[in-house]
Amino acid sequence: MTGFELCTWCNDFLDPATDKIEQGICSTCLEELGSVPNLELENISREFVDSLPYGNIVLDPENRVLRYNATEAKYTGYDSELIEGKHFFDEVAPCTNVDIFAGKLQTFRELGENDQHLFKFTFTHPDFKSLVSILMTYYKNGYTILSIRKIRDLE
Ligand SMILES: [Zn+2]
Repeated sequence: MTGFELCTWCNDFLDPATDKIEQGICSTCLEELGSVPNLELENISREFVDSLPYGNIVLDPENRVLRYNATEAKYTGYDSELIEGKHFFDEVAPCTNVDIFAGKLQTFRELGENDQHLFKFTFTHPDFKSLVSILMTYYKNGYTILSIRKIRDLE
């Protein structure tokens, strides 16, 4: 894979002519952020992630939550500050600890290349269920970004 197809941050299509397809960021997001995010330095401002149109979660190489944006907090009712630092699959969203989610990310880790996966998923919370579309972007440095768009709430 020579570059990503979708912007990690806003889910829009990347244009190789104008966008940074290797970094998975479109020119609009890049302009807002000021520079390509260096995930290892955790220099992703809260203001930027909170301005994104969809839920956005940044995971470190141990699957701990580095950033949990305002849109995602609104979807789930969780407090971003309480979620950040926790293990995503074990402590935050145990319903995601399944083959099609945690398992897919584990496969990406084993391959060790930049990769991206768009899929539908049903989030099962204690209080509600919702159908979402998730863009999982894995960076070969071990960091992962989940961009989550709610499709609808389920019964
Ligand atoms: Zn973008």
